Amino acid sequence: MPSFDDIPLIDDHAHPLLPAEAAAREPFARYFTEAHDAETVARHAPHALFYRQALAELAEFLGCEPTEPAVVAARAALPPDAYFRRLLEDAGVAAVLLDDGYPRTGALTVAEMAAAGGVRAARILRIERLVEDLIPTAGSLAALTDALVRQLEAARPALAGLKSVIAYRTGLLLDAEDRTAAEQALVELRTAWAGTPGRVAAKPLLDLLVPLAATWAAERGLPVQFHTGFGDRDLDLRLANPLHLRPLLEGGALSRGPVVLLHAAYPYVREAAYLAAVYPNVYVDISQATPLLAGPGLARVLEDLLALAPVSKLLYGSDAWAVPEWFWLAARAARRALAAALAWLPEGEARWAARRILRDNAVELYGV
Ligand SMILES: [Zn+2]
Repeated sequence: MPSFDDIPLIDDHAHPLLPAEAAAREPFARYFTEAHDAETVARHAPHALFYRQALAELAEFLGCEPTEPAVVAARAALPPDAYFRRLLEDAGVAAVLLDDGYPRTGALTVAEMAAAGGVRAARILRIERLVEDLIPTAGSLAALTDALVRQLEAARPALAGLKSVIAYRTGLLLDAEDRTAAEQALVELRTAWAGTPGRVAAKPLLDLLVPLAATWAAERGLPVQFHTGFGDRDLDLRLANPLHLRPLLEGGALSRGPVVLLHAAYPYVREAAYLAAVYPNVYVDISQATPLLAGPGLARVLEDLLALAPVSKLLYGSDAWAVPEWFWLAARAARRALAAALAWLPEGEARWAARRILRDNAVELYGV
């Protein structure tokens, strides 16, 4: 089996860490499951094969017993920044693109992540987060769209791309623009929020603003990432199927610039591979599938993607958040699964494909 351990990684989708003392307030397993309820976190998440394997790998790295308490104690004994740097270096991570719209508060900034990790870091701006920040002071829809474009322009020099979580809020099946309904939704939110940004899930508003931001990005050559496929229980998974994006891809707001379908759209993996194969501007990232899909599950996802999508359309990402181990576990899982999925190819061809997916495609697409 080939090994791709020497190829430097670019992680095209992750989130900032929480300060170690804040992260330590939750059970460690909480950071490695999409479930939020206490029962699943306490009784079932620790029995996920991915998590058990993760503890075994971390125990070896930390030189401790392969149990959760031993791993938690060993990591807590290390200086957080030095530990983060060691993990990134060991995993061969060269650069990270960070959606700093989540966690909403209390996380490190993009600059702090670069300094702590000793890596290059660039910002991915979450459209819905910016919209939420602007709604309380927007007196009208026109004022809101003006402010949105002004803020995007101001942020642009430090941006590697935009991201939308509309799949989480109102789904990927967008309605045609309806300014009257959007104006009404804005009035209702402004009143309900009373000056403090809340969670925007008003369909007429998002169905207007997300295409507007995507068009802004396309005109500047910036990719737009879309959450697709699995996530936590906030999500109606039926509406996270990327096939819903067809009207936008066919001559709509997503036909003009690069679009990245995040999380391999799992379980809609083959649908994502198809879209990447037929639309010149559609890419697929494998974050969150790395590291959450255990063992051969991740290799199967890569096999399905590689069966149809050109190698130039696939990107490595982790969806790491809150705790530094996620970056390390995802990188190792991706290298292993790629080696398995590409094992049928001659070695030179397999290495070429792995290098494109782990690094070169991101350099081309995001200019990082
Ligand atoms: Zn994410």
